[in-house]
Amino acid sequence: MMTLKDTQSAVRRSIQDVRHAITSGELTAVGLAESCYRTIEAENPKINAWLALCKERALQQAQGIDDMRSRGETLPPLAGVPIGIKDVLTMQGVPATAGSRILEGYCPPYDATAVARLEAAGAVLLGKLNCDEFAMGSSNENSAYGPVHNPRALDRVPGGSSGGSAAAVAADMAVATLGTDTGGSIRQPASFCGVVGLLPTYGRVSRYGLIAFASSLDRVGPFTHTVADAATLLGVLAGHDPLDATSSMQPVPDYAGALEHPVKGLRIGIPEEYFAEGLDRDVRAAVEKAADALRSAGCTLHKISLPHTRYAVPTYYVLATAEASANLARFDGVRYGLRAKDAATLGSMYRKTRDRGFGKEVKRRILLGTYVLSAGYYDAYYRKAQQVRTLLTEDFLRAFASVDALLTPTAPTPAFKLGEKTDDPLSMYLADIYTVTANLAGICGISVPCGHSSEGLPIGAQILGRHFDEATILRVAATVEQQQKGTHSR
Ligand code: GLN
Repeated sequence: MMTLKDTQSAVRRSIQDVRHAITSGELTAVGLAESCYRTIEAENPKINAWLALCKERALQQAQGIDDMRSRGETLPPLAGVPIGIKDVLTMQGVPATAGSRILEGYCPPYDATAVARLEAAGAVLLGKLNCDEFAMGSSNENSAYGPVHNPRALDRVPGGSSGGSAAAVAADMAVATLGTDTGGSIRQPASFCGVVGLLPTYGRVSRYGLIAFASSLDRVGPFTHTVADAATLLGVLAGHDPLDATSSMQPVPDYAGALEHPVKGLRIGIPEEYFAEGLDRDVRAAVEKAADALRSAGCTLHKISLPHTRYAVPTYYVLATAEASANLARFDGVRYGLRAKDAATLGSMYRKTRDRGFGKEVKRRILLGTYVLSAGYYDAYYRKAQQVRTLLTEDFLRAFASVDALLTPTAPTPAFKLGEKTDDPLSMYLADIYTVTANLAGICGISVPCGHSSEGLPIGAQILGRHFDEATILRVAATVEQQQKGTHSR
C-alpha cells in the first residue's frame, strides 16, 4: 500500500515514472489524484494557483485507468498522469473565467481539443488554473481572482500570464499543466518558477477551445518538470485538428525518441541583441553556463545578429492589442457570463457589462487596439507593425540558414516582487523583450532551468528553433537540463 508521502513524491516524478508506477501497481491513479488534491488543499491557500477543481471528473477518469489495469489492458501514454489546465481553455461543464469577471457564471459546453487529447491519452485533469485576465500580463497580477504567488519565493510573482500553470508544477500540485503563450506566457513563468515551458510552432497544436487573445500569436503548450515530459506531451497535443483551420497537416515526429540523438555538431546561434543593456548579471552568467554546457556536448557556438529585435516589443503591443480588441468584442453581456441587470437600453447594457466585467489592463488594451485599427491611424500603426513583423521573421529565417537553434535568456531578470511593476505598464511590457519575437515569427521555443540568482531565484534559458523543428530545441534543452542535474539537485 502506498503511503501519503510516497504518492506526494510521485507528483515530483516524471510522466514516465508515474506511468511506470501505475502500470506496475506501485500506485493507483485514484490514489495519485487524491494525493494531488490533498497537496492542493494544503498549498493552494498560499499560492492561489487554482480557480476551479473538477474532482468528480478527475476521479472518474482515474478509476477508469485503474479498471483498465486490473483488466490487464495496455495503458495509454498518459495513464493516470495528473494535469492542470490554464483557465483560458474550455473543459465541458467546468466554469471558464479566463481570469475575468466578465465570464462569471460561464460554463462551456465543450472541451478544447488540447484538453480532449490529454484525456483521450489517459491524463487525469484536476481543474483550472489562475492566469492574467484574458492572458494579458507578465506577472499574473491582472487576474480578477487575485495574484498567484511564486512557490519558490512567495513574495514574488510567478510570471504571466500562465502563472497558475507554472506555479502548480513548481509546487508539485500537478505533474504537468497546460498554458498558452501569445508573447511569452509559457516561457517566462516557466523561467520564474524553475520549470520547463514549451512554445510549439504556430499551427502545431490546435487552438480550438482556447478563449482567444490575439489569434495570430496565441499558442497552447505544456509546463513540465523535465524536457522529456515536454516531448511526451507535445507528442500527444500536436497534429491537425479539423476544428482549427490554422492547425498544420505536417506529420507529428517522435519527439521523445528524438531526445536519444546526441547534439554533437549542432550549430547554436547567440543573438547579440539578447545580451545587451538591461540584462541582469546573474541571468547572463547562468545562460553563459548553459552555452558552455552545449559547447562541452559538442555543439558549436556562433555570434549572430537579429537586427530588428528592438522593434519587437512595440510591434507586438500594436498587433496583439489590435487582435484583442476584435476578439473581445464578443463579450457584451448577451452570450457569455456577466450581464448588467440595471440597464434600460441594449446600448447601456453593453456599456455597463463591459465596464464592470473587464479589468484595467484589458480596457487599456482594447483602447490601444481600437486606436491602432481606426481610420487615419491604421496605416501608421497597424499596417506598419505588420511590415515590421515580416522583417522580424526574416531576421530569424536568415539566422536559421546558418545555425540550427538559438540560445538566449528567457527573461531579462529573475522573478520580481509582487506589486513592483503594477504602476508602470511600460516596464511590465519591456519584460517581454526576449519572448515576443518568437510569437511574431511563428517559430518554436522552450524555456529550461539553467541556474539560480544570488538570491536563489530560478533562471531560465530560452532555446528558439525553426518552424516545426521542436525536436531540435528539445534536444538542446535536454542537454542544458543534464548540465543542471550535475550542479543542482531538487
Ligand atoms: N506578457 C505579454 C502580454 O502581456 C504576453 C502575454 C501572453 O503571452 N499571453 O501580452
